Order: sequence, then C-alpha cells, then structure tokens
Amino acid sequence: MTEDAPRPVAVISGGASGIGQVVARALQDAGYALFVLDSNADQVSRFCEVHGEGSALVCDVSSVDQVDRAFQEFAARHQRLDVLVNNVGIAGPHGSLETLAVEDWQRTIDVDLNSLFYVTRHAIPVMKRQGAGVIINMASNAGLQGCPLRSPYTAAKWATVGLTKTWAMDLGPWNIRVNALCPGSVEGERIDGVIARDAAQRGVTAEAIRQVYQRQSSLQRFIKPESIAAMVVFLAGPGGEAISGQAVAIDGHTETLANWMSP
Ligand code: NAD
Repeated sequence: MTEDAPRPVAVISGGASGIGQVVARALQDAGYALFVLDSNADQVSRFCEVHGEGSALVCDVSSVDQVDRAFQEFAARHQRLDVLVNNVGIAGPHGSLETLAVEDWQRTIDVDLNSLFYVTRHAIPVMKRQGAGVIINMASNAGLQGCPLRSPYTAAKWATVGLTKTWAMDLGPWNIRVNALCPGSVEGERIDGVIARDAAQRGVTAEAIRQVYQRQSSLQRFIKPESIAAMVVFLAGPGGEAISGQAVAIDGHTETLANWMSP
C-alpha cells in the first residue's frame, strides 16, 4: 500500500466472534478498515471496543431488510469495498432427516445460504465500479462431502460452493474474484457444541466423538482459526490475484466425514 492509496475496506458477516473475528483481526492488521455485520449486540459492542468505533454493526444477515439498512449505513461510511467475507453460518440441527423441525431447516438455510444473496448483491455494484474485488464465501468440508446427520448445513454448504463457482464466472470479467474456503473442524466453542449434540444423539461421550472427528483428517487434529484468516489475507493479496472459482479445503486433508459410530 502506498502513502496516498485509499485504505481498503473489508466487510465480514458474522465477524464479531469466532472465526470471523480472527479473520477481521488479520485483515485489520493487513491495513483494511472493517465493517462487520453481526446479530449479537453484546459481541458487536465488544468488537468495537477492541477494533475501533464503527467497525461493526448489529445486523441479522438472514433478514433482507436489516441487510439493506446496513448497506445504507455502509455507503454513508465507506466509498469502496475491497473484500467481502461471507463468513456467517450456524451449525444447524443434528439428527436424521425425519426428526428435524421445519423451522430448524429453514433457519439454517436462511442464515447459511440466503444471507449470501442478501449481502453479496450489495457488494457487487461497488466492486464492479472499482473494476476489482474479492469475495470469499465460508463453506466447510461439509460442502465437499456428505456429512451424516447434518442435512440442512450440508445443503447450504454445497450450495455455497456452487454459488462460488457461478459468481466467479459471472463476475470474472469485472476482475472480481470469488472463492470458497472449506475448513474442517475448527478449534473453539462452536465445534464443542456440534460434538456435544452428536454425542447426545448417539448416546456416547463427547470425548469419543472428538476422537472420531480428529481421525477423519490425515493430520488428525482440528484446524486453528488463524490458518483460515491467513488464507483470507493471502487470497485478498497479490498471491491470490489469479485464483478464482476455487473451493479451498483447509482441513488437514479430510478423507471422510463418515462416523464409524453411524447410524
Ligand atoms: P460461530 O458460531 O462461533 O460464530 C458465528 C458468528 O456469527 C457469531 O459472532 C454470531 O453472533 C454471528 N451470527 C450468527 N447468526 C447470525 C446472523 N443471522 N446474522 C449475523 N451474524 C450472525 O461460528 P464459527 O465457528 O466462527 O463459524 C464461522 C463460519 O465458518 C461459518 O460459516 C461456519 O459454518 C464455518 N465453519 C466452521 C467450522 C467450525 O468447526 N467452527 C468448520 C467449518 C466451517
């Protein structure tokens, strides 16, 4: 970045905690101004204390109206948008299809899939005007393989990879690059919850499930959020300038998401 170059701007959905916050921190360290959209008001105010006033806004990205209002606010604060990270995603329900509640199915699709449409459609005109932009969609290794007992999550993550490849084709002529990241199990509270629900569903201990998950990958361990953040910064920078339409696995080479305890 030269002295008089405008400061690049990054929008991150669901970025006030978890992987999104680690990504936000890495982008801020790389010189980006942040505009985080997150539905948790407490986390948003904590985020602003740490990352600067105005760096995050309360917004449920599964609501079209809230996203539209957030981007009015965005336009009042920022003239450009260099990197959009569609990071938001809930784990969704755990169980065989016939036991799932319709509301849980719909909520997972609303947050994990529909929000990508609601948010990205605001980013595209700005990026087209600039003749440049980077979009990174947070999928999962459940977007590359079947994932037992996680139907709505898996549906949303495969759709995320499909959208990534489609948007890379649609937007490539404007020098807008679109990639998906597919992490394996990431260390943190979120995977602890998934493990607890899987253990309860199968009637085994959480530790037994944790070991199964770890052995699903060749590296036999969970992923650090910092590894994902480093890939975001790489893809957004000069090293990523020819990379688009890819679903990049950051998963220690996950061979299968099958669980030897199934069903
Ligand atoms: P998380 O649950 O720890 O954090 C998600 C953040 O999103 C929170 O700050 C939460 O307040 C916010 N959020 C939730 N619903 C929202 C909504 N409707 N609108 C706006 N904000 C909302 O999740 P995470 O583990 O950090 O996961 C981030 C992404 O990575 C997700 O897309 C997830 O599917 C994906 N992923 C996670 C793992 C993992 O093991 N944690 C593995 C693979 C992929």
